[in-house]
Amino acid sequence: MKSERSGCCSFCGRSPREAGPLISGRIHGARICRTCARICRRIVTEGRRAESLAEWQHTLKPREIHAHLDRYVIGQERAKKVLAVAAYNHYKRVRSSAESVEIGKSNILLIGPTGSGKTLLATTLARALEVPFVVADATKLTEAGYVGEDVDSIIESLLAAADYDIAKAERGIVFIDEIDKLARPANWPTTHRDVSGEGVQQGLLKLLEGRETFLAEKGKRKRPGDKRMKVDTREILFICAGAFVDIERIVARRSGQAGMGYTAELSHRVDSSAADALRKQVEPCDLLSFGFIPEFVGRFPVIAVMDEIDEETLIRILTEPRNSLVRQFQCLFEMDGCRLDFTRGALELIAREALERKTGARGLRTILEELLLDSMFNLPSAPGMSRLVIDESYLEAPDAGWLQMSETA
Ligand code: ADP
Repeated sequence: MKSERSGCCSFCGRSPREAGPLISGRIHGARICRTCARICRRIVTEGRRAESLAEWQHTLKPREIHAHLDRYVIGQERAKKVLAVAAYNHYKRVRSSAESVEIGKSNILLIGPTGSGKTLLATTLARALEVPFVVADATKLTEAGYVGEDVDSIIESLLAAADYDIAKAERGIVFIDEIDKLARPANWPTTHRDVSGEGVQQGLLKLLEGRETFLAEKGKRKRPGDKRMKVDTREILFICAGAFVDIERIVARRSGQAGMGYTAELSHRVDSSAADALRKQVEPCDLLSFGFIPEFVGRFPVIAVMDEIDEETLIRILTEPRNSLVRQFQCLFEMDGCRLDFTRGALELIAREALERKTGARGLRTILEELLLDSMFNLPSAPGMSRLVIDESYLEAPDAGWLQMSETA
């Protein structure tokens, strides 16, 4: 019997005739067949994945996540709370994946105007949790097979952000911006294929729910027959965001509040705080009316609506965060030996200008760059200038303001 089995696979006992060619080991008589080698490889990889997950002890509780977000994101209290709880539950689910009860995935949908801090929230969350993070633009995606990026390219970017460590990428965060642009336009002819809208929604479904995505090996283009890297998206947290312009009209119509803050025909906005209040009542059925397919909406059990940013919040954004814009410019001026200060009146004017531009907090940097251009141009050649105060009169004419300040310096 022994001699009969001696030329067989040491693991499964099959002969070369049954199992195909065998690989011999250095130890006399040790052999392994292809199937057993493949099984061993899987065991080792899975073991490494489990080790890596165990090493990564994400222990931040919702309050701690919230506190971290607080350091960088001003206001948006409800969104911060929703995100902190959703992220905590998501990673609890990741850790408990071996348990008998399967906990549903909590992908997050962030609704809010441009410049209200949606990307900042997601970036800050990823930093707090120390997981790889990637931002994708939904408008660049097209259905697989059409010109443009297909949805798998998002996972490729995440893998690159994780330094091609698959286990790390599999617990990362994907942020997809401009998701509202995937809504099917109300007047879209049913005979036309919508490859950049509904087609992408369909393409994203499996990714959001969790599936194995096969990617070409690092740095290679995907070609049939190539060796592939397998990334499982089950434990990736997806945060999708968009402005969802005018969704409040849909909410008003659905909830019978058509008169609230609107003209009878809902033809134009008259009260932004009423619109804000309506947006906060968004329900999944409103997203369907907006142009999303039911399966897509069903993948987002968590919806957070951002607050509209007002003047006071803009002033806080300018001055309070750890890396606030005012601090950043103060740092730049300090390198040229000049102390930079802003009066409260100047900050109010800057905030009002940002509100007028309707770009939320996003416009603040551009405004400051424009205002401080002359000063930044002249300062390095004016070594005697040790203090610059930006007040209302400086804002009226920054070039003259600089001159006046430098004369009195
Ligand atoms: P959105 O994704 O909502 O369009 P972003 O998160 O990209 O907006 O915000 C643009 C910039 O505005 C950020 O880099 C940040 O500097 C600033 N910002 C926006 N909202 C906030 C906020 N709530 N707190 C602090 N900074 C903010």
